[in-house]
This record gives sequence, C-alpha cells and structure tokens, in this order.
Amino acid sequence: AQTSSPVRLLAVSKTRTADEVDTLHQLGVDEFGENYLQEALEKIAALNAQHEQSIIWHFIGPIQSNKTRQIAEQFDWVQSVDREKIVTRLNEQRPDNLPPLNVCIQININDEQSKSGIAPEQLTELARQVSACPRLQLRGLMTIPAATQSDAELNASLNTMHNLFRNLQTQYPSVDTLSMGMSSDIEAAIQSGSTMVRVGTALFGPRTS
Ligand SMILES: *Cc1c(COP(=O)(O)O)cnc(C)c1O
Repeated sequence: AQTSSPVRLLAVSKTRTADEVDTLHQLGVDEFGENYLQEALEKIAALNAQHEQSIIWHFIGPIQSNKTRQIAEQFDWVQSVDREKIVTRLNEQRPDNLPPLNVCIQININDEQSKSGIAPEQLTELARQVSACPRLQLRGLMTIPAATQSDAELNASLNTMHNLFRNLQTQYPSVDTLSMGMSSDIEAAIQSGSTMVRVGTALFGPRTS
C-alpha cells in the first residue's frame, strides 16, 4: 500500500520581524512565506547575516514584473506565478549558480476580481511554458479559496484543486506540491489532499499591521 506523503508547513511571516522568524526557525520550522518584496528582502538579509542559510524562502504575494529579478535572486520558491511574462523573466533572471527556482502556478479557483491567479482553463498552457524553462522547476499549484463560501462550496473548490493537481502530476513528474490551506481552513484543505499549508495567524497570532 502507498503511504500518503506528509503535509509540509509553510510559516507565513508577512508583517513579522526577523527575530520572530528566527525564533520559529530555532523551534524547527524551515520554510517561510513572504508577500511583500521589500519587507522580505530586509528579513532575508538580516537572517543571512546571522548565518540562517538553512531557511527556505517562498514568495507568495502578487508579482509585479519589475520585481522579478529580486525574486529570482533571493527566493527558493515562488508560488504566485500567473502569467507568461513573469515566467519568462524569472527564467532569464534566475542566477546560474543557484538551482532552478521552484514554481507553483496560482489558480484563482473562485474567479475573484481581487485575487491573482489564472482560471483552470489556462493551466495547460501556462504549465507547458513553465516546464519548458530550464531555470525553473514546475512543482505544483497554489490557491487561496474565497473566504465567504459555505463549507460545501469550500469543499467543492478544494476538490476541484485536487483534481487539477492530480491531472498535472500525470503530465509532469516534478509536480509534488498542492499548496492550499491557511489558518481558517487547514483541516478541510488537508482532507482534500493539500501537501503544503500556509499558516500565519495560527502560528504567530493575529496581524496588527
Ligand atoms: C497571509 C497569507 C496566508 C496566511 O494567512 P493566515 O490566515 O494568517 O494563516 C497564506 N497564504 C497567502 C497567500 C497569504 O497571503
């Protein structure tokens, strides 16, 4: 029988200080997610100076095309990829001395105006583009479901994501990550096949800024 793979914890550290990240890292958390580039670069520099090179940094916020160079140079993963222009720039700008940048494609599963991400119908083409880039490694999908759904609607959204993920896995052997689940829907996301939860509030407490 196949054992299911463990679910990875990504600590979402937006608005938290480098010291708070360091404390959680000492407790054994290795992967951190950041939304705002300038804030993230300051923390990465501070923690690199403290020789915390063992932290794996994920960029999870909306990507402006004039910010791709710093993302390509400073991060290990980017989970919010949602258009070809960004794919092309990240591939060109990923330094040769680093391993390929790990990429998740963001899906706007509830078609919300306010959110980044592509429609499921666009996935085949964008995945093909990422997989053709030698400096990028396609790892999977990321989503932020609508907060206002009923439990039944949420579960339907999560199951749709799981089906997209399984389908993508059959085409690309490098795909192993379904990044879904935040503080409010961790359990439902894991039940629907999430392999990585992104948790801020439930780890650090409420954000004040
Ligand atoms: C802020 C954020 C999270 C974490 O949200 P919490 O509700 O604090 O757990 C996860 N993913 C993304 C993309 C975020 O922006």
